[in-house]
Amino acid sequence: MTELHKNYIGGEWVAGDARPNINPSNTNEVVGEFAQGTAADAKAAIDAAALAFKTWSQSGIQQRHDILKATGDELLARKEEIGRLLSREEGKTLPEGIGETTRAAQIFHFFAGETLRLAGEILPSVRPGIDVSITREPVGVVGLITPWNFPIAIPAWKIAPALAYGNTVVIKPADLVPACTWTIVDILVRNGLPKGVLNLVMGRGSVVGQAILESPKVNALSFTGSVGTGKKVAEASIAVMRKFQLEMGGKNPTIVLDDADLKVAVESTVNSAFFSTGQRCTASSRLIVTEKIHDQYVEAMAKRMKDLVVDDAIKQGTHIGPVVDQSQLDQDERYIQIAKDEGGTLAVGGNRIERDNPGFFLEPTLFTGTTPEMRINKEEVFGPVASVIKVADYDEALAVANDTPFGLSAGIVTTSLKHASHFKRNAEAGMVMVNLPTAGVDYHVPFGGRKGSSYGPREQGKYAVEFFTTVKTAYTQP
Ligand code: NAD
Repeated sequence: MTELHKNYIGGEWVAGDARPNINPSNTNEVVGEFAQGTAADAKAAIDAAALAFKTWSQSGIQQRHDILKATGDELLARKEEIGRLLSREEGKTLPEGIGETTRAAQIFHFFAGETLRLAGEILPSVRPGIDVSITREPVGVVGLITPWNFPIAIPAWKIAPALAYGNTVVIKPADLVPACTWTIVDILVRNGLPKGVLNLVMGRGSVVGQAILESPKVNALSFTGSVGTGKKVAEASIAVMRKFQLEMGGKNPTIVLDDADLKVAVESTVNSAFFSTGQRCTASSRLIVTEKIHDQYVEAMAKRMKDLVVDDAIKQGTHIGPVVDQSQLDQDERYIQIAKDEGGTLAVGGNRIERDNPGFFLEPTLFTGTTPEMRINKEEVFGPVASVIKVADYDEALAVANDTPFGLSAGIVTTSLKHASHFKRNAEAGMVMVNLPTAGVDYHVPFGGRKGSSYGPREQGKYAVEFFTTVKTAYTQP
């Protein structure tokens, strides 16, 4: 019998109903059995985190540094094994799985360093003879709720800063991908994290997630996922007056101008539209192309896309793994039909594929002849589906790129410094890429968007301190 991976609450591994974790490349394969938490488990986890807060918040930066550093070291040493686990549970290719695990290790190393660099300020008062100090303190019990598409990087970039700055944590990973978060928790615990400081409750969003949202004992909540759930997080957090942070959907544009290097345009948009099966919040799904290069670009894309191998995520030579599950595949196919019905031209792909094992394989799909008003250009599909919008010139391209409720990442492919510079200043997005894919970011700089994509302070890099600490101003008359 497969061993049950348990929840971790108040320093104990706690059993629950078993849920099988299914490999989307081969639905006959169970990656592992994971305990389904209950609302009572979530409450016990929050109580344990609240109890542990006083000691952990005063634990000292050397201990926190050492635990985070050791966790990064172990993730790096086991990156092949954990990367494989990630690819089996989520379906991104093995190099992508190993790359994401390496990223998680780098994030733990970065925040190990940040524990030693947390600085305050001392200023003279406007009233002579008084000193003013500004210090940062942990927020308290932090709830972390994560999506399925980056099973190790997103939990890492929330857990590491939360612990580094002295908070205690309750984390609920996405139901579809509990294995990677379970692995991080196991590593942290074995590397000396005291009881109650980090609590893991796996299970349903509507049960475990909802219990975390509703608890007034959760002092801050960091969420990544869909807009719909993000709104629930916001409403519940306002109701208890807690700090919260949301990273949500995208409908990211890439502009290709007439003066673009065609090879750069094709390579960067194939990467950002289709790699990781298009299941990245930073994926480019709107390809906005000026008229002189349009036909050449579409022809080159079609040729390049024919070479993309869609197969089992861990098979050597696979470029694109499966869609994560049946319901996401249904959504992708629904949008393909909507785009056809709206009058888009299916230029490449659009069909399900059979492979040796039963899995959720879909051809990378490109529509041409689409307009900004079509639903395919307004709503997030979250699959390997992109559409081309033909425009007259740069000015129209910029207007179309910004005509969206989202604002996560935006790209331009051009050899014109003038247009690149103008775009960097005027793109309504949190992250802008010039001659690079819209997906693929560094871990030491801020990550996040604007408009309907994000709410609250940025994640990652030293900007993470804004969310995971609270500021205290103290006045002293010596
Ligand atoms: P989702 O909103 O369905 O789920 C996200 C998390 O919320 C899961 O852990 C889920 O169990 C939990 N949840 C669901 N209902 C809840 C409730 N009522 N209360 C509390 N928690 C609840 O999103 P998903 O399908 O896992 O992820 C895909 C989405 O995430 C896409 O929209 C994608 O763009 C977005 N995403 C955004 C970023 C970013 O940084 N902007 C990064 C990755 C993914």
